[in-house]
Amino acid sequence: MGSSVSSKQPGQSSQAQGQGGAPDEPPCLACDISQSSNSSSNSSPNSSKSSGLRPPSRAEIGRAAWRYVHTMAAEYPEEPKPREQASGLFWLRSFVKLYPCHLCSQEFIEVCSDLPPRLGSRADYAMWWCEAHNRVRNDLSQSLQRCELGKLLDFGREGRMLDEAKQAICATSSP
Ligand SMILES: Cc1cc2nc3c(=O)[nH]c(=O)nc-3n(C[C@H](O)[C@H](O)[C@H](O)COP(=O)(O)OP(=O)(O)OC[C@H]3O[C@@H](n4cnc5c(N)ncnc54)[C@H](O)[C@@H]3O)c2cc1C
Repeated sequence: MGSSVSSKQPGQSSQAQGQGGAPDEPPCLACDISQSSNSSSNSSPNSSKSSGLRPPSRAEIGRAAWRYVHTMAAEYPEEPKPREQASGLFWLRSFVKLYPCHLCSQEFIEVCSDLPPRLGSRADYAMWWCEAHNRVRNDLSQSLQRCELGKLLDFGREGRMLDEAKQAICATSSP
């Protein structure tokens, strides 16, 4: 994976990238769009400015995306039919193409060409996402995770990240 297209910012620590709203974190595409539309004088009452909300950072989008894909992989058909595999590939192409961070998207295209997606079974798919996630983390100088199928499927089915304890999800989901 060529570092020339890496969207990691020079001098930006992995920790800062992991914090989600670090002051020196470059804005994601969504932030860019929001800022340019907010700079026009006619902001609507529902704009993020008036609601006090801010657009998600690149790290927040990334964490949400990773949670989604690992959960999806754990629910992928165990033995997918050719049509299901084709749907998976179509979804993946769209996910990469429309990912709301252009440089991340370009980077991930390289990951996919270096490590071609494996959609032949649930096990293959879950392991591929783990390995692909590690490629991205490696490129960002972040620590890598061991890809253990049983753990990936257990955590993925519960929508849990690998470093999340069970009660963390229960605590946030209970009223
Ligand atoms: C497709 C894609 C491409 C991206 N490209 C870039 C980029 O080019 N530049 C950039 O700055 N950011 C990029 N991001 C965002 C980046 O990957 C992180 O989401 C962000 O840096 C926040 O990192 P984090 O430390 O919170 O953990 P994340 O990498 O977001 O991981 C979230 C959680 O997933 C679990 N986890 C970690 N590794 C694995 C694994 N291998 N398998 C399963 N679970 C795991 C851990 O519990 C971890 O806390 C990309 C995100 C996606 C989805």
